Amino acid sequence: MQTEFIIKAAEAIHHAINVNESEIESLDREIGDGDHFINLKRGCSSVLDIKEKISVLSAEEALNHIGLKLLSTVGGASGPLLASFFIAYSQSEKENNLDPVNQTSKSFTSGVEAIKKRGKASTGEKTMLDVLIPVSILLNKLANENKDPLEIIPLIKEVALKGVLSTRDMIATKGRAANLGERAIGHVDPGAKSCQIMIETVCDLILNNK
Ligand code: ADP
Ligand code: MG
Repeated sequence: MQTEFIIKAAEAIHHAINVNESEIESLDREIGDGDHFINLKRGCSSVLDIKEKISVLSAEEALNHIGLKLLSTVGGASGPLLASFFIAYSQSEKENNLDPVNQTSKSFTSGVEAIKKRGKASTGEKTMLDVLIPVSILLNKLANENKDPLEIIPLIKEVALKGVLSTRDMIATKGRAANLGERAIGHVDPGAKSCQIMIETVCDLILNNK
């Protein structure tokens, strides 16, 4: 991965989060405390604040800086979880040197594993992991099949969206929504939605860069 692409992705994610402000905010108001959009916006701004600094770094160092910045600036449950994703992703980029698809799959999976560990959660608990785990499973499968990125991207976008919708009928067992019991049923998880938006944004950026 190139640092230039990471910066472009950060800018595109910042834009996409802003475009989806009202949806993200209202989802967290329904089953959380309403601050998920603010947390994400703060995270995006803090990453863009260090744009110049990271532009001269290797991709893995840039990703590590992003993770540490998120850890120190974003509150809520989502801040440290997303931070751990980037720190683990960076570590995997440093330790492996695979072809782009297999490398992305390996690093993304390391990032997701770090979130699972930090949040002590898995699928079916009405969290961001209901998007991230299915995406990492599919990515691994397609990478093993040596699929072309152009074939992979639409399938990833589809599974991410399916993951978001799957949270609607779940009872939450992690995070603030866990206090709501059955009252959380019928509402999509805000962290699942924001992760799907971020994944879709990066997928579209890859397609447009082709
Ligand atoms: P907070 O819940 O502290 O207000 P945010 O609103 O920023 O923080 O983030 C809420 C999102 O974080 C939830 O929608 C959910 O997707 C995710 N989340 C919360 N707890 C966990 C956990 N233990 N594991 C994975 N994701 C979690
Ligand atoms: Mg919240």
